[in-house]
Amino acid sequence: MAKDALIVIDVQNDFCEGGALAVSGGNEIVPIINKLILRFDRVILTQDWHTPAHSSFASSHPGKAPFETIAMPYGEQTLWPDHCIQGTNGADFHPDLEWTKAELVIRKGFRPHIDSYSAFYENDHVTPTGLAGYLRERGITHVTLVGLATDYCVAYSALDAAAQGFSAEVLLDSCRAIDLGGSLAAMTITMRKAGVTLI
Ligand SMILES: [Zn+2]
Repeated sequence: MAKDALIVIDVQNDFCEGGALAVSGGNEIVPIINKLILRFDRVILTQDWHTPAHSSFASSHPGKAPFETIAMPYGEQTLWPDHCIQGTNGADFHPDLEWTKAELVIRKGFRPHIDSYSAFYENDHVTPTGLAGYLRERGITHVTLVGLATDYCVAYSALDAAAQGFSAEVLLDSCRAIDLGGSLAAMTITMRKAGVTLI
């Protein structure tokens, strides 16, 4: 029988209402995710975890504003407001998220010169976080992804999960999107094409 795990992506203060990079409706999904956490035997969380003056912050690039893009050695990078800085309240999980059951917290984006949307790989799509190995060693073959944001960290995580041979599904009512320049529609199509189940 397939062994499954729930992966809760980046349900952190900075991505929820009042946060530095608030995703509209971010707070609404917390009680929904709490119910899922109760239902799953294996729960994994991710936590965006940036160094101060991280290269993905617009403030680190003079003349650039948040949501503009810049060319990085690994490709195009969207620039964000400063968010989820290591050890700050903004990087903490939402206070109502019932996360104590989680068996693993994957931190990502801690290398100053590279961003990381996916729970599996940094944005160069080469540097692994170790999650794929963890899942394999535990015999987990199916992952259910929820959290923030649908069209960035959830989508990239789901795509990498599928590429790594895991069966992956995204529960859309347990996610909220940033939707920058049509990114939600584009990533929805990309996920479907990659064999990710969208529910
Ligand atoms: Zn980030």
